Amino acid sequence: MIRNISQITDVERLKCVIDDASFFVLTCHAGPDGDALGSTLGLAHYLKGLGKEALVIVPDAYPDFLAWMPGSQEILRFDKHREKAEIMIAMSDVIVAMDYNALSRVDDMGPLIEKAKAKKILIDHHLSPDSFCDLCFSYPNLSSTCEVVFRLILAMDGYDCLTKAACECLYAGIMTDTGCLSYGPCTSELYILVSLLIQKDINKDRIYNKIFNNYSEGRLRMMGYVLYEKMQVYPESHAALITLSREEMNRFNFIKGDTEGLVNIPLQMKGIYFSAFLREDTEKDLIRVSLRSQGTFPCNKFAAQYFHGGGHLNASGGQFDGQLSEAIELFEKALGEFGK
Ligand code: 5GP
Ligand code: MN
Repeated sequence: MIRNISQITDVERLKCVIDDASFFVLTCHAGPDGDALGSTLGLAHYLKGLGKEALVIVPDAYPDFLAWMPGSQEILRFDKHREKAEIMIAMSDVIVAMDYNALSRVDDMGPLIEKAKAKKILIDHHLSPDSFCDLCFSYPNLSSTCEVVFRLILAMDGYDCLTKAACECLYAGIMTDTGCLSYGPCTSELYILVSLLIQKDINKDRIYNKIFNNYSEGRLRMMGYVLYEKMQVYPESHAALITLSREEMNRFNFIKGDTEGLVNIPLQMKGIYFSAFLREDTEKDLIRVSLRSQGTFPCNKFAAQYFHGGGHLNASGGQFDGQLSEAIELFEKALGEFGK
């Protein structure tokens, strides 16, 4: 069994914190994805199995294709139930920050978490975590926060009491953050971990279908439109760009999550190692930026240098204050000068 994720003293400290506490609030970044929901819900199931109270609070809406996750019915949305969420955060013994490395990524929840008296634990796989937590389990070399959670549970000898529901959530997060084990740090150990999850009798085919074969007609047509009419290719830079305005998204009856994964598609092209996706935010007056690469191209440096963002080497994001056309202009300029 894989136990050596971290200094055993840290795991012992985590165990002590868990033993001493009874009410846990588990939080993730705004715009929760499969890893964010999978890790918070997976850990919530584990803690409940230990007889603890655990509540998942998310900053805002998550995509429909994740609503099958066991426990999702009990998730509290901060943007919809702010007062209740504030009380729960203030009452908690422990707050776990999952799948994010800075309070800026949880929007208005940030200041509340910061001032809460609870012990704070960070469990994450993004680079350079801010120091707002008492205990920090940050592993940027691991595929997903779900992988970190699972390894921590193994290190605490918790495998036997992990339920099928917990394993389904953790499995889903690993699958969504690695494109079904096709990119990111998919080590041989990760395959062993996945096999341990599958041993808990999870229905991996059902999970795949729920996540990847569950698109609306509008989403599929939007994908076709974007690739056929909106994709710019820059062969000398081995790069591609796709863009979407709010009006275009509305045309395809856009719902949250419909653009998830779009940015990866141009990387399927021969000779393209860097893909960018610029889109108008559906609520705020800003441009959302998603970047993906293959190999050594540092998306995170590109995002930090030009789009107030960051992330992983091969998957990063950021934002731009201004019009979509200006963001495109900046992107093209950046492509020409980056790394020179
Ligand atoms: P996505 O393209 O899916 O929105 O984001 C991909 C990854 O980029 C995220 O997992 C996260 O690591 C990172 N990321 C996205 N937006 C931001 C941002 O505004 N700031 C930072 N530091 N990282 C971001
Ligand atoms: Mn993640």
